[in-house]
Amino acid sequence: MSRPCPCGAKATFDKHCQPIIAGKAFADTAERLMRARFTAYSLGDVDFLIKTTAMPQRENLEADELEDYCLSIRCISLKILATEAGGPKDETGMVRFHASMQVDGKRRLHAETSHFHREEGQWVYESEEEEGQEADADQDPNA
Ligand SMILES: [Zn+2]
Repeated sequence: MSRPCPCGAKATFDKHCQPIIAGKAFADTAERLMRARFTAYSLGDVDFLIKTTAMPQRENLEADELEDYCLSIRCISLKILATEAGGPKDETGMVRFHASMQVDGKRRLHAETSHFHREEGQWVYESEEEEGQEADADQDPNA
């Protein structure tokens, strides 16, 4: 049985995020991991979410809390807006996205810039910047 992938990819779930979440394939790019994590949120696959979070943040994750969070939301759609690096030959990557979800019956748009890096060769989720809080340290008006 094939059904659409929750991440919105053209490929079906069993050919896209499913093998990555099941550990049968690895995400070759940061975007691919981002998509699989979105799908894992929508499925409530807490183990995968914890496994793909970078140390030391992983140690702060509570499986119960994460599970409650997954149950409290409904992931509707994912839109990748931009990526930087995060390719098969990169060690770090950034993915900017909008995730549309339903929280307490209300539609909510979650805008985030996620940072990823590799741990033992595999992509892991490192940190997020909520939109509007992006530090623009590079821009010096006196330069
Ligand atoms: Zn997918």
